[in-house]
Amino acid sequence: MPDTTPPITQDVKTIPRALPKGPTNLVGLTRAAMREVLIAHSTPEKQAKMRVGQIWQWIYQWGVRDFSEMTNLAKAYRADLAEQFVIEIPEVVTRQVSTDGTRKYLVRIAGGHEVEVVYIPDGKRGTLCISSQVGCTLTCSFCHTGTQKLVRNLTAAEIIGQVMVARDDLGEWPEVGAPKDETRLLSNIVLMGMGEPLYNFENVRDAMKIAMDPEGIQLSRRRITLSTSGVVPEIARTAQEIGCLLAISFHATTDEVRDKLVPINKRWNIETLLDVLRTYPKVSNSERITFEYVMLKGINDSDEDARRLVQLIKGIPAKINLIPFNEWPGAPYERSSGNRIHAFADIVNNAGYPSPIRTPRGEDIMAACGQLKSATERARKSKRQIEAESGTGG
Ligand code: SAH
Ligand code: SF4
Repeated sequence: MPDTTPPITQDVKTIPRALPKGPTNLVGLTRAAMREVLIAHSTPEKQAKMRVGQIWQWIYQWGVRDFSEMTNLAKAYRADLAEQFVIEIPEVVTRQVSTDGTRKYLVRIAGGHEVEVVYIPDGKRGTLCISSQVGCTLTCSFCHTGTQKLVRNLTAAEIIGQVMVARDDLGEWPEVGAPKDETRLLSNIVLMGMGEPLYNFENVRDAMKIAMDPEGIQLSRRRITLSTSGVVPEIARTAQEIGCLLAISFHATTDEVRDKLVPINKRWNIETLLDVLRTYPKVSNSERITFEYVMLKGINDSDEDARRLVQLIKGIPAKINLIPFNEWPGAPYERSSGNRIHAFADIVNNAGYPSPIRTPRGEDIMAACGQLKSATERARKSKRQIEAESGTGG
């Protein structure tokens, strides 16, 4: 196969973190940052920590968006807050529900950009798949997001805002004053939507800290999984500063093939990636690393690949998620056959690694892995095409 992989165009930390200008949004700020902005806006320093605690609970525990409802604050203070701050989350543009219960939201963020968020109910668990960037600078050749130009990093507010949008839609904010409830429709978060989360580290970290805060959304760190294509220098930081579970988009067992599928491999190859995973501080049997492996017909799905995979990951407590390739228009690959996937899974399984085959969810609404945003883009494209064909233009 000739190497047609485009070069990596963007490097770590080169995308500015600047927030759009306007009234300060309290959503997405860490507790320390919220304290600072309250003090800067005339909250007495001595009271600031307590005020943060109160406002934090209103926003993240009870889901309140209106300062006037924050009844444990003095009326005049509530009015002050309303003048200086906003509590803003992304706006839902469309909401689609699949026949299998999967929900897909298209949300609009500042600048008119749109991002997709997917909610996947599965028995007692409900997983929300959130995005960290608009598009992605990486160009994995099997991923539809990778064919779209990066527009920008999401802010921490836009990242945690996706969780808040879903809780709104699921009607999951408890009544004010109600005891903490352990049953959750939204019980897990995966950072597996659009974008490479480790190229937007600080914002992802701040948002996930909010999701884990015991005075708010209260998700355990074990219920959050961050998926990365392998940004090696940021992996140890993920353990230290976020502490969530880690998934690696592995997808190939030789550098030759991985260079083509996941071009970041040219920067940090399989050996470098596995070395950092072997020392991932949280690795233990109860907190395995998930290896994601997309099954591409004739590319990475042979018995030999399966055997090489188990050799490579020896010594790393791991689970291998086999993802049948989700096709998109113009994709240069095909999905491996069911028999092939099962044969691959058996080899990995017999070597002692759980190797579940991921059932595509929400296919009827294009909500499956790697398909995000594509439906919207396509709808636009076809509208343009129709206009071009009918000569209306514009
Ligand atoms: N950028 C991060 C997280 C988002 S992608 C990463 O790459 O890990 C989430 C998962 O979906 C990744 O494992 C990705 O490789 C996989 N994926 C992308 N396109 C896919 C497709 N068309 N079919 C199946 N899985 C796909
Ligand atoms: Fe980006 Fe992940 Fe898609 Fe690769 S698989 S292009 S890193 S979103």
